Amino acid sequence: MSTAAPLLLIPELRDGVLHPTTARLFGAGTALAEARSAPLVALLIGDGAETQAPRAQALGAGTVYTMSGDVPGPGSAQAWTRACASAVDAIAPSVVMMAATAVARDVAPRLAVRLGASLADACQSVAVDGGHLLVRRSAYGGRALVEQRLPADARIVLTIRPASFEARTPATHATGPVEAIPVPDGAASDGVEPRGSERVGGERPDVTEAEIIVAGGRSLKSAENFRLLEDLADALGGAVGASRAAVDAGMQPHERQIGLTGKTVAPRLYLAVGIDGAIQHLAGMRGSRVIVAVNTRRDAPIFEHATYGCVHDLFELVPCLTREIRRAQGA
Ligand SMILES: Cc1cc2nc3c(=O)[nH]c(=O)nc-3n(C[C@H](O)[C@H](O)[C@H](O)COP(=O)(O)OP(=O)(O)OC[C@H]3O[C@@H](n4cnc5c(N)ncnc54)[C@H](O)[C@@H]3O)c2cc1C
Repeated sequence: MSTAAPLLLIPELRDGVLHPTTARLFGAGTALAEARSAPLVALLIGDGAETQAPRAQALGAGTVYTMSGDVPGPGSAQAWTRACASAVDAIAPSVVMMAATAVARDVAPRLAVRLGASLADACQSVAVDGGHLLVRRSAYGGRALVEQRLPADARIVLTIRPASFEARTPATHATGPVEAIPVPDGAASDGVEPRGSERVGGERPDVTEAEIIVAGGRSLKSAENFRLLEDLADALGGAVGASRAAVDAGMQPHERQIGLTGKTVAPRLYLAVGIDGAIQHLAGMRGSRVIVAVNTRRDAPIFEHATYGCVHDLFELVPCLTREIRRAQGA
């Protein structure tokens, strides 16, 4: 049995179920735990912690720690950080790992400061290299890849970019201990409005978490016309993104901006609708697995980066596409 300090995964629970990024978090965590010969454990905080524990075990967690009752939602960053820090004190892991969601963006730096730990954010790969942990992450809007060597004996907080890791397939039979950790004093509320878990546009995922993104540019012409993209995104179960030109024109909120001065995304499918493909936009989305571009201009730069391109007017094409997808779904 391993005597190494455990590697702790903190997946999010939303509405009582594990967040869709969880299987990929376990994919990254399992590989690192094996490389370090460390036990893999998980911490579930909030409603559904106990009921979701078997799923965390099926994904590879040995012990699952739960903290439920009067606990904050993950959107309440300060209170959630306090809850995580208290659990980390009890579990004493060497590495704490979260998926780089909107919540983790708020919580991970706070947690690292509280723990006096090193932080590596939005990692695209994580490996053991001698006495170090070697992480790779993009910088300067995706134009550079940074390698960070962190001493393996120091406490480390990592967030991983889910799209860069394979999802772990759940085992059919898995059991293990489930241990309750008490809610620390003052963790229930910090008087701060939840922010990180806010979802722009109701049930649509945030662009940093979505597997599919339908993004639009200046060519949409108005906020109302973005409804076309929202309908398509809803049909595909995806998120809506925007170029800076669309955001600057007030058609979309900044939360949806993708690019150098917006968010970096790496979904399975990125639909760039009426987006030119400026370098600053590409900086935020060129890590997408499949890029489909729709543009009236055959020589738009986006086509150089697209897996599939369609030279067509978006106002004609998008409603047809949504209709056909809905028809195929039997809706
Ligand atoms: C420091 C700095 C930071 C920046 N950060 C960002 C950033 O984070 N994100 C970002 O996106 N940009 C960023 N920009 C801006 C960037 O340079 C571009 O200006 C912006 O991305 C252009 O947005 P767009 O493609 O929507 O608009 P446009 O450049 O106006 O392109 C519109 C496209 O739509 C096509 N089109 C028009 N009508 C239709 C139609 N009916 N159907 C189909 N296609 C149509 C056109 O052919 C064209 O290709 C930044 C710029 C600077 C200087």
